[in-house]
Amino acid sequence: MAICRYCESEMQSTHSCVDTPIVMVDGTTYPPVRYGEEIGWRHPKGRCGDCGVLPGRVHHHGCDVEHCPRCLRQAITCGCLWRGEEHLADDWDEEWEARLLR
Ligand SMILES: [Zn+2]
Ligand SMILES: [Zn+2]
Ligand SMILES: [Zn+2]
Repeated sequence: MAICRYCESEMQSTHSCVDTPIVMVDGTTYPPVRYGEEIGWRHPKGRCGDCGVLPGRVHHHGCDVEHCPRCLRQAITCGCLWRGEEHLADDWDEEWEARLLR
């Protein structure tokens, strides 16, 4: 059981996460990368193996397959911070805050 923080739904039982633009902590926005649009990912068959969304829908944030719309790398490892997860990021520290305040 895992509840997505963005759509507040049980991940494996919903068809898509919310498809509103993703807001970065610096205020820039990006349309979410949908399941099947990831670079190097071809023709998904069936639901996402990690978060359970249907092809063409938006991954629940935190999915292994999800790509970051900002840097187009794997979202869980890319290091970009999305608005709302400042306090959840393991690497959130003074360095990040200093960068944002600059
Ligand atoms: Zn979701
Ligand atoms: Zn997924
Ligand atoms: Zn990124």
